[in-house]
Amino acid sequence: MNLRLSGIGMTSARTRGRLIERLRAEGIADETVLAAMNEIPRHIFIDEALATRAYDDVSLPIGHGQTISQPYIVARMTEVLRNGKQLNRVLEIGTGCGYQAAVLSKVAKEVYSVERIQPLYERARKTLRELKINNVNLRYADGSAGLPDAAPFDGIIMACAAPAPALSAVLREQLVVGGRMVLPMGTQEQYLYLIERDESGFRESRLEAVKFVPLVMGKA
Ligand code: SAH
Repeated sequence: MNLRLSGIGMTSARTRGRLIERLRAEGIADETVLAAMNEIPRHIFIDEALATRAYDDVSLPIGHGQTISQPYIVARMTEVLRNGKQLNRVLEIGTGCGYQAAVLSKVAKEVYSVERIQPLYERARKTLRELKINNVNLRYADGSAGLPDAAPFDGIIMACAAPAPALSAVLREQLVVGGRMVLPMGTQEQYLYLIERDESGFRESRLEAVKFVPLVMGKA
C-alpha cells in the first residue's frame, strides 16, 4: 500500500474536508470546484517535511524559489475561469508542482500546462502519473508566448505574474470567442485580472489583490 497516497493523520481526507469548509466560508461557491479540490490530495504535491501544513490555506515552498499557490487562490481562479460552465481545453502557465493543473483536470476535458524550470516539470509529471491523472499535457517550455500549437483554449490561467499588459495581449489571442483568461498582473502591487473574449473583442476586469511569483522569460 502506498502510505503517501492513502493519507494518514494531518493528510487525511477529513483534514481536506475542513479546508473545503474554509474555502466555502471564504466565498467559494462553485460546487464543482470545491468537489475537485476535495478530490486532489494537496499533500502529495509538496515535500513530506511540510505535509502537515498541506491543508492550511497558505502557499508553501516547492524549491527553486517557487511556491505552491494558496488553496483559496487556486479555488478562486478556477471558479472565475469556469464561470459555472464545463471547460473543454485549458492552458496553465507555470505548472510548478502541478497542483493547480490537477485541480483543472477535474473541471476541464483537456489541460495543457507549461513550466520553465526542468526539475519542477519532471516532478509534476511524476506526481500526476502517480495520481493517475491522464488528461494533463505538461510541457517544459517558456510559456510567455502561450502555446500556439495547442490553441485555441476555453480558458487560460497564469500562475506567475505578468509584468505588463503587453504579455496578456499575446496570450488572449489564444482564447476562443467566449473564452476567459485569469492572470495576476503587476510588479509591486499585483491584482488578479479577468479577460473575457466575445465577438466584438476583449473585456478586462480587475479582481482582488494577490501575490504571485513573477513570470521569468526563457527556460531554466
Ligand atoms: N501552479 C502552481 C504554482 C506554481 S508557481 C501551483 O499549482 O501551485 C509559478 C510557476 O511559474 C513557477 O514554477 C515558475 O517557474 C513558473 N514560471 C515562471 N515564468 C514562467 C514562464 N515564462 N513559462 C513557464 N513557467 C513559468
